[in-house]
Amino acid sequence: MKKLILFGPPGAGKGTFSSQIKDVLPDIVHISTGDIFRENLKNETPLGLKAKSYMDKGELVPDDVTIEMVRERLNKEDVKKNGFILDGFPRNTTQAEALSKMQEIDRVILLNVPRDIIIKRILGRYSCLSCNEIYNKYFMKPKKEGICDKCGSKIEFKQRPDDTEETLKNRLEVYEKNTKPLIEYYKNQKLVKEIDYSNKLPEKKVKKVIGI
Ligand code: AMP
Repeated sequence: MKKLILFGPPGAGKGTFSSQIKDVLPDIVHISTGDIFRENLKNETPLGLKAKSYMDKGELVPDDVTIEMVRERLNKEDVKKNGFILDGFPRNTTQAEALSKMQEIDRVILLNVPRDIIIKRILGRYSCLSCNEIYNKYFMKPKKEGICDKCGSKIEFKQRPDDTEETLKNRLEVYEKNTKPLIEYYKNQKLVKEIDYSNKLPEKKVKKVIGI
């Protein structure tokens, strides 16, 4: 059972790398705090409404809300049985310290990507309205234009409301200021495995990176 943290700036490919991990460890639970917030927002839950104003600006949702949400998710049976990939958490020292009291971590995988690719990944990103599969107008178009590779529906594609130039600037600043210092925190614990994720990795390399 693996307990992994995926680390890197917005647009580093944490979601895509999570799918690559799930290809080799299908039962591992992917926990993306951004996805949980977006799901709550879509369903207009109190949590979603609370998170909305922060997400719109590219700022961090307050720690108490975020930490409790993650604690609840980590306590579920599927996680206890199959391990997890944390994607988008922790994002600052308070969150990392809270996490250290909840779980032992096997590895922190740091995804390195050049800044120009990050910007294109974010500004070109869109997803399928019915199944959420992610595409990119520069790098990863569906095989048949306008048709989702995964669910096959002839559908509209949607863009994340925070994938705009204005919000991206703030998200990258928040990453530099609050999140990046955690690399040192985890390096001191000898947990960090660093990879270049400009492109998808072959399966053999994915296994090596996650230690199976
Ligand atoms: P992401 O999908 O990881 O880029 O997250 C989208 C947005 O959700 C972020 O810009 C934050 O507003 C919020 N968010 C996601 N994860 C966290 C977190 N660990 N702490 C605080 N806010 C978060």
